[in-house]
Amino acid sequence: MSRKSYDAVVVGAGPNGLSAGIELARQGLSVCVLEAKETIGGGARTAEITEPGFFHDICSAIHPIGVVSPFFKSMELEKWGVEWVYPEVALAHPFDDGGAALLYQSLEKTGDTLGEDKRPYEKLMRPFVERAADFFEETLRPIRFPRHPFLMLRFGLYAMRSCLGLASSRFRQKRARALFAGCCAHSVLPLDKIMTSSFGMVLALAAHAINWPSVRGGSQKIVDALAACLRSLGGEIRTLHPVNSMRDLPQSRAVLFDLTPRQVVEIAGDALPTRYRKRLARFRYGPGVFKVDWALDGPIPWKAAECRRAATVHLGATIEEIAASESAMWKGEHQERPFVLVAQQSLFDSTRAPVGKHTGWAYCHVPSGSSVDMTERIERQVERFAPGFRDLIRARHTINAVEFEQHNPNMIGGDIGGGANDLWQFLARPILRYDPYSTPNERLYLCSSSTPPGGGVHGMCGSLAARSALKRVFGIKV
Ligand SMILES: Cc1cc2nc3c(=O)[nH]c(=O)nc-3n(C[C@H](O)[C@H](O)[C@H](O)COP(=O)(O)OP(=O)(O)OC[C@H]3O[C@@H](n4cnc5c(N)ncnc54)[C@H](O)[C@@H]3O)c2cc1C
Repeated sequence: MSRKSYDAVVVGAGPNGLSAGIELARQGLSVCVLEAKETIGGGARTAEITEPGFFHDICSAIHPIGVVSPFFKSMELEKWGVEWVYPEVALAHPFDDGGAALLYQSLEKTGDTLGEDKRPYEKLMRPFVERAADFFEETLRPIRFPRHPFLMLRFGLYAMRSCLGLASSRFRQKRARALFAGCCAHSVLPLDKIMTSSFGMVLALAAHAINWPSVRGGSQKIVDALAACLRSLGGEIRTLHPVNSMRDLPQSRAVLFDLTPRQVVEIAGDALPTRYRKRLARFRYGPGVFKVDWALDGPIPWKAAECRRAATVHLGATIEEIAASESAMWKGEHQERPFVLVAQQSLFDSTRAPVGKHTGWAYCHVPSGSSVDMTERIERQVERFAPGFRDLIRARHTINAVEFEQHNPNMIGGDIGGGANDLWQFLARPILRYDPYSTPNERLYLCSSSTPPGGGVHGMCGSLAARSALKRVFGIKV
């Protein structure tokens, strides 16, 4: 350590850990971030993992919530080198007949791809699209009495429903149902569970509010920007510094863990009361993921040519097929036709691959701790909607759920969301507590995606946890 003591120490240099560090350092506090791995970034790293010149996002790729995040906005990430790359279409959802539903920023244009469901779709989304700033201010924080009660009551009535329930009552045709189900599947829950609609609504609204961008050069640029900002404020970052117990920490007045509850229980030991540790230990983790990155000789040859206008493509022909896939992993099963999330950033960002070449990014959900190789099943799904795809593959890199946890100890069993998104953990994340970031030990805080508002690269968990520590430990109200 270059100093013996700090005002605050953050464990973990993921997007939330770095955001927490910035929020603290902005108040003139001395901050040190400790990272176990050789490189910073957690779930926002980019590397040449297939062939030289092909830059792959190892985890996060598309950042609709990052771009609406009040914390990222306050940082003006663009000043720190982040360039959002907006595709013409936020999301494409192809079908076996060669057509596709498209999620545009424009409600009208989206509706045009949904046949008879154009009007119902617009009616569902419009009230929130018109008040997008208020809406995202409310949703990206812990559940509290809303500042915009009528807007949020209206949202709650839809959000609390299951995806299958809302889609079947609102939409008559398979296109809108499948498009909505693909967005709801980001909950990583069976689609008949209540609250799964909330994920579909939030992601679709982010598309209408601002689109679904990637970052020029890769998601790593976000954490590089966060790190540069933190250092400019005097913060330190130490890599190759795993924290396994409280003894591994330098002296500080506050410690913020960008870790999930299971790790915090192990590290903090007696520093937290037994009762609180037992409650944290009951925190539930979700299923894992299996991911493939491809170096390609050309763009993915979608049957529905309009899919080339989107950076994100969802593969699952009907709501029934997607629902079957999203409940299989909860039963310990591996679906033959998994719902696959594809990103094709190089279509919009020439820095990702050599001239004329492309990158492909895809994953599907699998049971927690799975080591089953899903490459063949994922590639079969892509080939189904893009015949000739396999002939373009120059090289691939795969990572299963077990390997994800080795890559990043926060991804327990391959869970990429920092914990299951079930109803209870939606209301009480990580446990039921008015200030979910605080612990009974006034020095210790949780700031990872296991706290509200949950998974994604948006920095809000870190920012809000830091504000809690600022108020409780340092008497600073932000
Ligand atoms: C395949 C995949 C696809 C994804 N796609 C998207 C996407 O498109 N868009 C999006 O917004 N999000 C996406 N995500 C989710 C996103 O990556 C996470 O929600 C986000 O990174 C969580 O940030 P965090 O700071 O809470 O934790 P993390 O990013 O997990 O960071 C935690 C950090 O703590 C470090 N650490 C762990 N244990 C210790 C220890 N004991 N001592 C010191 N350091 C430690 C880890 O090495 C890591 O660097 C994806 C994730 C994956 C894996």
